[in-house]
Amino acid sequence: MVAEKGKENHQASDQHDVLKSTQTVIHLALDKLGYSEEVYELLKEPIRMLTVKIPVRMDDGKVKVFTGYRAQHNDAVGPTKGGIRFHPNVSEKEVKALSIWMSLKCGIVDLPYGGGKGGIICDPRDMSFRELERLSRGYVRAISQIVGPSKDIPAPDVFTNSQIMAWMMDEYSRIDEYNSPGFITGKPLVLGGSHGRETATAKGVTICIHEAAKKKGIKLEGARVVVQGFGNAGSFLAKFMHDAGAKVIGISDAYGGLHDENGLDIDYLLDRRDSFGTVTKLFNNTISNEELLELDCDILVPAAIENQITDKNAHNIRASIVVEAANGPTTLDATKILTERGILLVPDVLASSGGVTVSYFEWVQNNQGYYWTEEEVEEKLEKILVSSFNNVYETSQTRRVDMRLAAYMVGVRKMAEACRFRGWI
Ligand code: GLU
Repeated sequence: MVAEKGKENHQASDQHDVLKSTQTVIHLALDKLGYSEEVYELLKEPIRMLTVKIPVRMDDGKVKVFTGYRAQHNDAVGPTKGGIRFHPNVSEKEVKALSIWMSLKCGIVDLPYGGGKGGIICDPRDMSFRELERLSRGYVRAISQIVGPSKDIPAPDVFTNSQIMAWMMDEYSRIDEYNSPGFITGKPLVLGGSHGRETATAKGVTICIHEAAKKKGIKLEGARVVVQGFGNAGSFLAKFMHDAGAKVIGISDAYGGLHDENGLDIDYLLDRRDSFGTVTKLFNNTISNEELLELDCDILVPAAIENQITDKNAHNIRASIVVEAANGPTTLDATKILTERGILLVPDVLASSGGVTVSYFEWVQNNQGYYWTEEEVEEKLEKILVSSFNNVYETSQTRRVDMRLAAYMVGVRKMAEACRFRGWI
């Protein structure tokens, strides 16, 4: 009995191990594409992983030493690219998995990049502006040797924003002794940021929702939408869904959720949220995040953190379409359950690729020193995401695989080819 329980726990933790899950699907995708085991051996982990210690003088005069990471998954296609997350739950494993997901995203939307990712174990909600600046600059000094505009290009991720990108760009430019806007994306407009970057992830998710709704014969006008998470992706997405005539009946943050069958007042909530996407603390009648995910709705968008839809609650999900705006919100067991139940699951590596796509536009604009209008950015983003969605959807239909495996097959192919042409495998 005890042993059985242990086994069960072991399996459950395997399901929650984002690196293991990613490796499982990469293996399957390479198998389906007919690649050998050596390709898997090369792609199952980042080619480079740096762990750094960052001493920061805190406002009380004491020095606190933070741990940070930068993972570079594969640079066969081009420089690596991906965000930096500031969060207490950052771990080496998570950063590795996130860097692999970035490679897949870049492959799916066909950008000339491999994947990278960074993270610092910290809680920016408990830090002052100046402490955050010192931490951001310290991190850049610590990783400066392996990053750069044609090596590895960071960007924002969970709990980092354009201000943090600005400090990082400034620090890198000092080290490099050149103004280097192409070192990092997601910068403020005045420092070489791109129009449309702030809303890009949500725009990309919106385009995927439009395409998925077409496949399912659902009209967006009047559709009931639930969004878990009210950060950069979740909050803008709620706004875009509201603007498209959908009814956003549920939203949540780390502390709980709000539910109103008649549709929530999204403009009011956007106005009241803080920079970490917290808004529910202002209300008394909240529901839990677990309850929110099981609300009766047409479209469910997990836009928060990992492992939210698992084998425990996948049977209770009542949406017809689940679109993953967060990285890794659904376990592999849950993916299977949702797919078997006929729910159309649009996986993270496809749905959340709008952010890195506009980051690429930002880097191109920085490199050429010529800047585009918001309309140009949006038009280019729309074109790329519509064709990427349909490419993945058709792969899933013709190869009879779920949307996640189809996305991995599309995402991994270019990288594997590039490794072969370079003579690495
Ligand atoms: N952090 C975002 C992601 O996970 C964006 C990365 C980027 O813009 O490079 O896709």
